[in-house]
Formats: sequence, structure tokens, C-alpha cells
Amino acid sequence: MLVHKSVNDKNVNKMNVVMVHGGVETSCAPHYIKALRESALAGYNALGRGLVDAAEEAVMILEDCPLFNAGYGSVLNMDGEVEMDASVMDGGTGKFGAVAAIGCVAHPVSVARKVLEDTPHVLLAGAGATKFARSKGFPQINCVAPGMLEAWQRATDKMSRGILPNASLFTGLPEENGIAACDTVGCVVAHNGQTAAASSTGGSFLKLPGRVGDTPLIGGGIFASGRCAVVCTGLGEAFMETLTAAYVDSLLARGIHPQEAAEKAIERLNEKRGAPGGILVADSQNRYGAAHNTRSFPVAVVLGGSLAEDFSPRKIAVSDRR
Ligand code: ASP
Repeated sequence: MLVHKSVNDKNVNKMNVVMVHGGVETSCAPHYIKALRESALAGYNALGRGLVDAAEEAVMILEDCPLFNAGYGSVLNMDGEVEMDASVMDGGTGKFGAVAAIGCVAHPVSVARKVLEDTPHVLLAGAGATKFARSKGFPQINCVAPGMLEAWQRATDKMSRGILPNASLFTGLPEENGIAACDTVGCVVAHNGQTAAASSTGGSFLKLPGRVGDTPLIGGGIFASGRCAVVCTGLGEAFMETLTAAYVDSLLARGIHPQEAAEKAIERLNEKRGAPGGILVADSQNRYGAAHNTRSFPVAVVLGGSLAEDFSPRKIAVSDRR
């Protein structure tokens, strides 16, 4: 099913696209949507500097916002520490940069950008990634937000008494109106026949120290090429094992529209792993799409500098599994 017919049905949409998400199972309350819209507009305003700048800028705004599970406000691991993953990819050059299990930086996505630009590597992890960030002038920041510490204390206290915590898989927070409070963030950008993607996360609540999700893994939770840019959110292990972001790119290579590709990839994730997930795609013709199989997946889209008020990602029912 195609969405946003007036713009998105055309073979070529002339307006550039900046699309951001706040993660699956994230609240769609007005203040979440407002933050996502500000992020997408900030990305658009940075487009003059370049597509990677736009994607990075949009993600930085959300890393700064404690509503989301990225940067300050990230979830805590089993040891009560924040370990974050982030990445950027330039579809035009195929260059990729990522950090995994990095601690104590405000903007992991910007450290990932430095890996892309200033090193011969594509992925730095753990203490080495944090040390690299310091060498590039990123100050030491405490990323542990009080609400996340409380969530960790509640959950580990219950676990020590043999009770499974009744909290969001992703955030550890008690659910408000059936929806958890925050999750991973990501951005895709399409402009002048080029694409870029950026993503950032605190990962999953109570993960083992050292656990790395799909966010910094090329082809798993993020991809960009001459065809399209893709970012994913959801159960990272499922996205890694199914190489979902690369699969979306392969669908576009077969001429499939980004909206249909996002839907097919979520259906495939259902079929192969039965895992929660959400996907954003924008292609080099400025067409775009988004799909998920969860209770909520807040997304903001800016087309040619204006918010697309009527866009919403397509929800694929879990019963649609084939
Ligand atoms: N995919 C992320 C991870 O597994 C979490 C998320 O996007 O919800 O680390």
C-alpha cells in the first residue's frame, strides 16, 4: 500500500526528504512528535552542508533529548552502565562509520562520523571507542538519567527476588497507556539523487555488558547506497541475523517502491524471527516509506522543508505473518 499519495506515488518526487523516527514502542504523545519534528527540520536546515551532516544533525537533536533511548537518557545494561551504539552511512560514497558499546559521550553519532572521516576503520568498540572520542575532543558526559537509574534499580531489585520485571524490553520503563516511553532514533535523507543514514541507541535494557545491537552493523540495522538509505529499530539480534537493512536495498534494486520494500522487510522479519521492528527508507528519487509491526512507531517527515502532516508508517499486523 502506498501512502501520502499526492507526493509519494510519483516516480520521482522533486522535494528532498528528511525522515526521522523515535523507535518502536515509543510514545506518540505530542511532545514526542514535537521533538521528532524539530529533529527532522534541523536535519533539513543542515542539508546545505551535506546529506551526512543533515542525518547527523537530526540524530544529535534526539540524542540530546532525554525522551529517547540515545545519548543522555539511554537505557542501562545489567551492570547499571550506559553503553551506546551509533553509525552513519553516506550512500553516495558507500563510506560507513560506527561506534559500539561506547560510554560517556553526548553524541555517539558524531563520534561515528569521526570514525568515518578520520580513521581507516569503520567500527570502533568499547573502551577504544571512548578513548577515540576523547582524542577527538568529545567531553566526558554522564549519560545516566535519573529515570533510567530508577528503572534499573526497580528491575534488578525484582530480579534479585526472582521476579521478572514488568517493564519495556527496550527501556525498562513502566508502560504508560500500554506504550513504553522511549527508544532508538534514526534518520534517512534523500537529496539531489543521493542518500544518507544515521542511527543512535542505548540498545536494550539489561543487556549484557558488551552487547552490541544492529544500530552500528552495516546491512543489519542501517544501510545507504546509490539507491536508498535505510534505518531500522527493534530487536537488534533479529535485524542482524536477517540482514534486514541490506534486504531493503536489494528490494529497491529490483524496482520496488520504498513503501512496499519497508512492508516486505517487516513481513520477512515477522516470518523469520517474529520480532518487533520498524523501518524507514528514502530513495535517490526522493520517494520514501515506513512500516512496523509494533504498537507505535512515531515518525516525522520533512519534504522540501515542510512537515508532511499526514504521513504515518504502515502497521503490519503480526497475524500477517506468512
Ligand atoms: N535495535 C536496537 C538494539 O537492539 C534497539 C531498538 O532499536 O529498539 O540495540
